[in-house]
Amino acid sequence: MGSISVKFIADHNVGKLAKWLRMMGYDTLFFNGIDDSGMIATALAEDRVVLTRDTEIMARRLVTTGRLKAVLITSDEPERQLKQVIETLNLDIRFRLFSICLECNQPLVERNKEQVKDRVPPYVFKTQDQYMECPSCHRIYWRGTHWQAMTKKLNKFKQCQQKEGEF
Ligand SMILES: [Zn+2]
Repeated sequence: MGSISVKFIADHNVGKLAKWLRMMGYDTLFFNGIDDSGMIATALAEDRVVLTRDTEIMARRLVTTGRLKAVLITSDEPERQLKQVIETLNLDIRFRLFSICLECNQPLVERNKEQVKDRVPPYVFKTQDQYMECPSCHRIYWRGTHWQAMTKKLNKFKQCQQKEGEF
């Protein structure tokens, strides 16, 4: 599967996984409705892979016949869930890290220092040169400690992949 273009729709039971995938730069919708058919209709219309812990969805004809691609997430734990998706779909960990808003799933836009002045804390302004803004919620992103912690975790996955000789 061409991992570059893969898009997801995450069921309400795997919300944290959705954020991880967005962090990696994968377009991931989060479905928090109660009617599964809405999620399935969107997945079909937009060619998205369904991520769910719901075995009933996996038993649907659309899934068993392969018309709808779905991954049954087996673990409770978001990091293991991410590992499962990365391995199942052979995703590229170094894809487009931090290019999508974690809240809105919108592609971020680069901003220079002057553009974010007065919109970020003074200590951040002093120490950071690169910023990204979400065009939808206008949240500003920069390479802070949160970012570093997440990069570290992803690098751990990368090392695992290298050990298995995939790169
Ligand atoms: Zn946003």
